[in-house]
Order: sequence, then structure tokens, then C-alpha cells
Amino acid sequence: MSAAPTNEPTFRESVDLMFNRAVSIMDLPPGLEEKIRVCNATYTVRFGVRLRGRIQTFTGYRSVHSEHMEPVKGGIRFAPSVNQDEVEALAALMTYKCALVEAPFGGSKGGLCIDPREFDAHEMEQITRRFAYELAKRDLIHPAQNVPAPDMGTGEREMAWIADQYARMNTTDINARACVTGKPLNAGGIAGRVEATGRGVQYALREFFRDKRDMEQAGMTGSLDGKTVIVQGLGNVGYHAAKFLSEEDGCRITGIIEHDGALFNEEGLSIDAVREWIVKHGGVTGFPDAAHTAEGAAVLEEECDILIPAALEGVINLGNVHRIKASLIIEAANGPITAGADDVLRNKGTVIIPDMYANAGGVTVSYFEWVKNLSHIRFGRMQRRQEEARHELIVSELERLDEMLGDRWSMTPDFKQKYLRGAGELELVRSGLDDTMRIAYQSMREVWHEREDVTDLRTAAYIVAIEKVAAAYRAKGL
Ligand code: NAD
Repeated sequence: MSAAPTNEPTFRESVDLMFNRAVSIMDLPPGLEEKIRVCNATYTVRFGVRLRGRIQTFTGYRSVHSEHMEPVKGGIRFAPSVNQDEVEALAALMTYKCALVEAPFGGSKGGLCIDPREFDAHEMEQITRRFAYELAKRDLIHPAQNVPAPDMGTGEREMAWIADQYARMNTTDINARACVTGKPLNAGGIAGRVEATGRGVQYALREFFRDKRDMEQAGMTGSLDGKTVIVQGLGNVGYHAAKFLSEEDGCRITGIIEHDGALFNEEGLSIDAVREWIVKHGGVTGFPDAAHTAEGAAVLEEECDILIPAALEGVINLGNVHRIKASLIIEAANGPITAGADDVLRNKGTVIIPDMYANAGGVTVSYFEWVKNLSHIRFGRMQRRQEEARHELIVSELERLDEMLGDRWSMTPDFKQKYLRGAGELELVRSGLDDTMRIAYQSMREVWHEREDVTDLRTAAYIVAIEKVAAAYRAKGL
């Protein structure tokens, strides 16, 4: 549920306010600004499923924000709080996100009002298939028109059901698997999709720490190594981001906030141990080796270098923003900071790496999955062994040198093994994701540092994204 106080703008209004701030300093033709901002269409469906001896009615949405490129793309969320305003806000963010990272899609989003914890796997399958049927028969799931993906409350399992449902309804569609992304590997998925959004958060932070000017803005020095991190939500996105940052970049995860409270340990928490505990016990309560606070959101206000909200929207709002101490916030979740809180933080000098960029790793790897499905071949399949054979030539020359030079020179012990291995799908996906995250960050950074009227990364991100959408409309003659 959105934690924003009721006197603040809704999530969709917040996104519009941020959009308006950016367009007010852009030079767009009259009317185009409104065309880009408004949501094209939202489909609401109410359907019944016979469960436990009675018919239960569910409400779902699929919103299409912009079709300047097709297919449109965006996740499907399963949560009790799903509503039209939220789905439309998320669809708008998808438009800007895809433009920013140059994924060739328009923006869309879907949601089903449901608490998945109330149903067993078989019931969830019946509900998901029925929802997918309702959307697919209106082309709101379609490889060329609308391609969903996982979001809060959904994952590989639901995507596999959706893909199968579409395939059953379109038995001769050779591209049926491309109707949805985030599928398991054995059902047409791609290596590295599950970790992609969290991995993208890691790559985003690495890029931030490559530039002294950016660090200075946040009053930081050095690198990610040794930085303290608090993460909210240890689901798909939060878990992977926290795991990679602690295991590969030397960050210390001091706080983890979940739906049933928060854990805090100045020495750092083991992400896998906490995740295992959550899977076993349904929450963080009772986890040993850390202080537990029932009022989880209070831990957002603890001292840390980097704050990673990775659960819900509106969690940093006018009610708590004045107590937020982190000088760098990376929005792994969509919309975790309300427009009002964003103003306060911006004026205070807190650096915010905005959602539309920070969590774009998911859609980026979804794009790779879609391309894989359409090309019907796994990445690397043609080149890998040829690459290895060429590397073999160099290694055998080096081995000859090694012999000739005796004690004077030798190859580093694991060089041969590392160099000989051609890239498999996972390495290629990570490389493509890293490249995408770096290039998109650099495009925001350029606007942020070079335009005097831009003082934050969010406005910079909107400007880059809106310019790209506007260019697509111009190319169409609009
Ligand atoms: P998820 O369902 O896997 O995880 C969400 C986590 O948040 C769960 O562990 C849940 O218990 C926790 N949570 C729920 N209520 C909470 C509360 N009040 N306080 C603290 N934690 C709470 O969802 P996800 O896929 O990780 O998505 C999280 C966010 O990231 C969403 O905003 C989503 O839109 C965004 N996102 C996800 C993806 C993706 O690929 N999955 C891509 C882009 C953006």
C-alpha cells in the first residue's frame, strides 16, 4: 500500500509533476508535451474464477501509456493495493524508462488486485491464466503489440503460465514465446533475467562512483567499498542489489526493511542468511544476529551512505523526508519518493538516482529476452566456440614464449583458463546490461552537469527520455 500521506499528490500526479518540471525547461512544439504526458488507454477487467466452491471476482488493469513504439512493454503487478492511478503512473514511467535506456518499446503496465499469499499455487495458476486470457484476447498480451514482464508479486512462474496461455490461444504463432518476458529458462527465458533489475542497480552505482563530480555532489569520496547501505524490500530487486553490492563491491548492508519490520546491524547483515530466513518464516521477525524493529519504516531514517528503497511507492514522503539522513538514494522501486519529498531532498542536496533509470535493468534484459525469442536462438550459440578457437591460437603462442623465456616470464596462473572461455549467454547479457546502464547514466550526467537549469538527475533523466520520445513522434510526422 502506498505510504504517502493523503494530502500529497497521487503517484500518477507525482509522475506528472516531475514530467512537468522537465518540460518547463525544454523546447517542445505546442501540444506535443500533452500528447507525451497523457496515458493513451487503460483497460479494466473484472473476471470470475471458481475457487473453493464459489465464484470469486477479481479486478485487473492493463494500461498503455504511449505507443510511439510498439510493442509496448511493462510488468504485471499482483498486490491488493493495485489501482488505476498506480498502473497508469507505472505505465508512464515505462515509456520514459524504455526511451532512456534505448529499449525499442512504448510504455505499458498491468496489475491485478490480489494478495498472492491468500492462494495456493494451483489457485494462482487458475487466476493468472484467466487474467492472461482476458488480456490476450484484446491483444493486450501480444509479441508485436504488448509484452508484459514480472513486477511486484509476480515472477518466472506467473510469466510461464502467461506464455503458455497465449500459446494455447495462438497455436500457429511462431513467435508466441515473445509475448511475455521474465520466463524461466526452460520456457524461453534468458540467463540473467531474474537478477537483472538488482544487477542494474549495482551497475548504476558503479557508474556513479566512476565520476568524482557525482560523488562530490553527494559529499562522498572513494568507491563503493566500505559504504553502508540500507535496503527496503528483500524481494527480487532488493535481494539481488544487496547481494551483489555486499559480495562483489564491499558494501556493508546495515539495515533491511521488510513488511513485518526491520533488521539493523552496524557490522553488516548476511543477505543470503536473511533471505533464507524470510523464505522459511515469511518475514524478518525472529532473525538472530540483528536488532529487530517492528516499525520498519523508521529504519529508512537511520544513518547510512546509500539508501535503496526497493519495495513500494511513496515510502519517502512529506511525513518522514525531513528525517532522512542518507546523502545518496537510489530508487530501485518505482516511485518510492513523492514529488513533495523530492523537492525537499533536492533542496537539501541529497542525490537521487531516479527510478526510471535505476531499475531499468529489468526491461533491458527483457528486451534481450524478446530479441532471443524472435530470433529463436540463444545468444552466443554461433560465436562461442569460434571465439575460443581464436583465443587458443594466442594462448599457444604465449605458451611457446613461456617455454623460450624460462624463468624470465610466465603466464599468470589462471590466465589461460579465463581467456580461453568464450562468452556464454549470461556473460553476454551482463555485458549488454552493463553497457546499457553506463550509456544511459552518462546521458543523464551530461545534462545534469552541463545545463545550469538542471540541478538533479531526475530532471536530467526526464529531459533525455522526453527528447527521445519527442524525436520518435517527429519521425512519424506528428
Ligand atoms: P517483489 O514482490 O519480489 O519484492 C517486494 C518485496 O518488498 C517483498 O520482499 C515484500 O515482502 C517487501 N515489502 C512489501 N511491503 C513492504 C513494506 N511495507 N515495507 C518493506 N518491504 C515490503 O517485488 P520486486 O519485483 O522486487 O519489485 C520491487 C519494486 O521494484 C517495485 O516497485 C517494482 O515496480 C520495481 N521493479 C521491479 C522490477 C522487476 O524486474 N521485478 C523491474 C523494475 C522495477
